[in-house]
Amino acid sequence: MANDRLDAVKAQIAKAAKRYHPEGRAVTLIAVSKTFEPVDIEPVLEAGQIDFGENRVQEAKGKWPALKEKYPGTVLHLIGPLQTNKVKDAVALFDVIHSVDREKLARALKKEMDAQNRHLPVFIQVNIGAEEQKAGIPVDDTPAFVRLCRDEIGLDVKGLMCIPPAGEPAGTYFALLRQLGEQVGLGGLSMGMSADFPKAVEMGATHVRVGSAIFGSRH
Ligand SMILES: *Cc1c(COP(=O)(O)O)cnc(C)c1O
Repeated sequence: MANDRLDAVKAQIAKAAKRYHPEGRAVTLIAVSKTFEPVDIEPVLEAGQIDFGENRVQEAKGKWPALKEKYPGTVLHLIGPLQTNKVKDAVALFDVIHSVDREKLARALKKEMDAQNRHLPVFIQVNIGAEEQKAGIPVDDTPAFVRLCRDEIGLDVKGLMCIPPAGEPAGTYFALLRQLGEQVGLGGLSMGMSADFPKAVEMGATHVRVGSAIFGSRH
């Protein structure tokens, strides 16, 4: 069941963290509950899981306000693309935004955070494999974009996020994201999904986003 899978994922994270970062490195497990119903999510909340991820504002709005009320310590992460017309809802509902990838969005977020007095931590999404169809800021533009978001716009930028190209070993992309993070002085690295989260932890992930390995195949 979901909670056995949750325990197994946690054990794999702990093992990789201990093996590759014996000096100690905190890794936040984000349980990605997109497409799943409250009835599937509640057992995982009951098991004490704090961090959850959703990729659509509209879908999250339908199920999370009630769940958050029942489990007030929950931290909800937006891991999918964000349209500027959804920024108001996103800032009201989510606690961390992983998908900041353009100036217009960064400015809209800052304005809305000020209006709601909710200053959420954010990650900059990097198009690490330079894929045409993928969201994210190009690798070469990342340092300037981080400076813009952090120093000029004034967002609380915690780190970088990526989704490596499908069907390729992810390790080199994780290494590249870590190198970029070091270059711009950001400690947070949101990388690794069900197929590759132990590798991501090995390469220095601070946040892994794991869906199907916890909840099973998506509906
Ligand atoms: C769905 C999703 C995940 C989780 O994917 P799994 O392969 O089910 O672990 C992680 N990150 C993002 C951005 C996603 O959209």
